[in-house]
Amino acid sequence: MTYTIKKLNSTGKLKILGQTAKFDVCGFPSIFVRKKFQRFKFIYPAVGKNGKCVRLFKVLQTNVCEGNCFYCANRRDRNFKRISFSPQELSHLFIQYYKRGWVDGLFLSSAIYKSANFSEEEMFKTVLYLRKKYGYRGYIHYKVLPGTDEGLIKRIAPLVDRLSINLEAVSDKYLSLLSPTKDFSGQLLSGLKKISQVNREKPLKAGITTQLVVGAAGEKDKEILNLSYQLYKSYKLQRVYYSSFMPVIDTPLENFSPCLPLREYRLYQAGFLLRGYGFTPDELVFNKEGDLPQRFDPKLAWAMSHPDNFPVEINKADFWQLLRVPGIGKISARRIVKNRKDNKFTKIGQLKLTGAVVSRARDFVTLEGKFYPSLKKPAFEQSRKTGDQSQINNSAPEKINQQLFLWEEI
Ligand code: SF4
Repeated sequence: MTYTIKKLNSTGKLKILGQTAKFDVCGFPSIFVRKKFQRFKFIYPAVGKNGKCVRLFKVLQTNVCEGNCFYCANRRDRNFKRISFSPQELSHLFIQYYKRGWVDGLFLSSAIYKSANFSEEEMFKTVLYLRKKYGYRGYIHYKVLPGTDEGLIKRIAPLVDRLSINLEAVSDKYLSLLSPTKDFSGQLLSGLKKISQVNREKPLKAGITTQLVVGAAGEKDKEILNLSYQLYKSYKLQRVYYSSFMPVIDTPLENFSPCLPLREYRLYQAGFLLRGYGFTPDELVFNKEGDLPQRFDPKLAWAMSHPDNFPVEINKADFWQLLRVPGIGKISARRIVKNRKDNKFTKIGQLKLTGAVVSRARDFVTLEGKFYPSLKKPAFEQSRKTGDQSQINNSAPEKINQQLFLWEEI
């Protein structure tokens, strides 16, 4: 294995190692990433504590890799510029950006140079410099590499806000189509168990996460969401991130089609239903291939295919029934339950004050027994009358319709 190591200054390295870090996701679905952030190849938006958009400095410590994953720009057999930051150099560079107010936090990842432990030691030193030498107290999301020793993870954990390890695929079978050098059960899942154990013993401020590559191995949305649900239940994950596959030139998958950002977005929406809205994977609506319908968000698709659950009476339904109404999210459901103790909802305009999206909710609710449907015939009426769900499953999206949820904190 020969590498071309060219002399680059820190800014030149950042352009390359920030750009390749884009495959590790940590913020908004790619469909929402705005151009203003894309001008800076190493600054990525995420959502901070108060719902504010924060800027993460996302970078790899090195792109030199022993791994040979079929989809990855850093794979061993790919011929391109290989570079590394020293811990001193990277910590110094980050702190310059932070002090100038250009970034709000750090997302640190790496390819596997020499071994997982060797690369992790380099990243660990970077974090140590930041915390000890520069007194940096801000946010750090730290990527654990497959095969890292538990002892090393335990040393890193107290210094960072979030730990994550990428599972990449939903099973051994699919991972074998993505990587000849990674082992799903023995390496990735066991790595997730290790960081989960560390998080249980002493919870990290921003918890633990993982990431799946979507659209490269033929996996179905149903399989992805089944696994996500299990991970949320078993390992108390803060989030399962979905990374749309993008073909990279000079890799074995360069001629594969990219995954549409809309698919990734629908998966996030469905993931939110599983994590915070009391849905189980069995309740979600899938087409016969096992994928989510693209035209409607998963909650609307569920509501349209369960007409017997509607309308919901706003003045009587419990919190969880309200949560199932399209256009009503957690905040508005809470406000409805609280406000109706003093004043019943008798006008559709009152719903707006709770933050609900009335134009979406009105087809699914009654106020004191009265129904206020929108003028446009709701699509679910069709399925209510005929039982035909083809409209839900087969139509192309007219525009991105928004399911209510807040993107949670980084
Ligand atoms: S281990 Fe695989 S996914 Fe990770 S950087 Fe190396 S080639 Fe890429």
